[in-house]
Amino acid sequence: MNVATAPSRREAHTASVKPRVLVVEDETALVELLRYNLEQAGFHVSVAYDGEEALASVQEDVPDLVLLDWMLPLMSGIEVCRQLRRQTITANLPIIMLTARGEEGDRVRGLDAGADDYVAKPFSPTELVARIRAVLRRIRPALADEALSYADIVMDLVAHRVTRGGKPVHLGPTEFRLLRHFMEHPGRVFSREQLLDSVWGKDVYVEARTVDVHIRRLRIALNGDDRADVIRTVRAAGYALDAQA
Ligand code: CA
Repeated sequence: MNVATAPSRREAHTASVKPRVLVVEDETALVELLRYNLEQAGFHVSVAYDGEEALASVQEDVPDLVLLDWMLPLMSGIEVCRQLRRQTITANLPIIMLTARGEEGDRVRGLDAGADDYVAKPFSPTELVARIRAVLRRIRPALADEALSYADIVMDLVAHRVTRGGKPVHLGPTEFRLLRHFMEHPGRVFSREQLLDSVWGKDVYVEARTVDVHIRRLRIALNGDDRADVIRTVRAAGYALDAQA
């Protein structure tokens, strides 16, 4: 494609409208962990450190989902949940309770208070993100309708389909994950080792040159015979998705 007509990097990463998550948690370290993981997953994050603040924040601006810790100072998460359910504007607001309590009885209490789902600490950030998406998909399908786009490439994450310039691109599962990783971080250079960790997983033993094999396949699938190469090879460093390559 013509470089002059390429959208700027910022515009190219059109993550459409980001779902807004209000995190209600008093432990700052956990708040930062949640913020980091949720932002990475494409959510807009706001934070309330106690129940009163959460209720005030929701009054001002209703988020798309509340991630609500059970153990909060002054007012428990359960009480916050009940109050949100009592108010008309937040009666149907998706709420996921977060807690150290893992007993079945507590789970039932959380759901009884009106929570849509329940995640026990310690939790894996990946699983938490999946649960958030599942709740949003159930309650607000439009928000979970995910697609990534970069330059003329569009990746439908739900249908697992990729197009370039409107034409289908056929990718194997590894190339799909690789492209998804690049599209979530356009312009950023990743070493082979970083790509192995993120795309193949830390506990899988694969040689670094395997990455080169899959990059080559991804390039062939994306570029066909006549399209500009959008994957930049950075000597001694790795690879990046870059339309101005
Ligand atoms: Ca807490």
